[in-house]
Amino acid sequence: MKKEFAVIGLGRFGGSICRTLAQEGMEVLAIDIDEERVNEFSNIVSKAVVADTTDEKVLKDLGIRNFDHVIVAIGDNIQASILTTLILKELGVQKITVKAQNDYHEKVLAKIGADHIVHPERDMGRRIANNMISTNVLDYLELSDEHSIVELIASKKMDGKSLLELDVRAKYGCTVVAIKRQTHIIVSPMAREVIREGDILIVIGADKDINRFEKNIVDHE
Ligand code: ATP
Repeated sequence: MKKEFAVIGLGRFGGSICRTLAQEGMEVLAIDIDEERVNEFSNIVSKAVVADTTDEKVLKDLGIRNFDHVIVAIGDNIQASILTTLILKELGVQKITVKAQNDYHEKVLAKIGADHIVHPERDMGRRIANNMISTNVLDYLELSDEHSIVELIASKKMDGKSLLELDVRAKYGCTVVAIKRQTHIIVSPMAREVIREGDILIVIGADKDINRFEKNIVDHE
């Protein structure tokens, strides 16, 4: 059966979630207190309604409890975001993802039991900053405060060397989980796999280990 999603708050973030889910063929109920925003989405999603989600009765009448996943993307009005999340929780919604505006907001959301809290502006800022610091880092995904998955470009220094020769795991404590080479991807490469300059290595590990690895693979002119 198709998963059913409800998205509350149709700003840039909630709107983008709605569009992507709809493009992927998901059932989406889009909700906003602002009629103009709702009208924008009426032809995009399965159903779009004008509602104030801080009203418990409204959420009950919408049958919100039956949705598989509810996303709260109310940004500026932190009070409305918290109250909506609290009501969704009390109504027994299975999975709730909430956009946090700041650290204080995030703390409260965690306390009231939001299943997943996202902080898109902060996370994207960190991601872009990390990409700017190193020319070798193409992309970066934070797994926890201390662990990440990073895409690194293989340098000239690594060219022609196998993973075993580079001794990535023993020397640096991180693992190359895949190698992107032009159009194909080598998943779980063997230790004998030879790296070529320009390969993209997908590396998982503790940030400090990845940093050490990255510093050592950079070509020093
Ligand atoms: P973004 O940062 O994603 O661009 P935004 O700044 O465009 O967000 P916000 O003011 O953060 O918009 O709020 C997102 C949406 O949530 C708005 O369209 C707003 O009308 C809606 N919203 C605010 N309060 C409620 C509420 N109580 N019930 C339903 N929708 C609400």
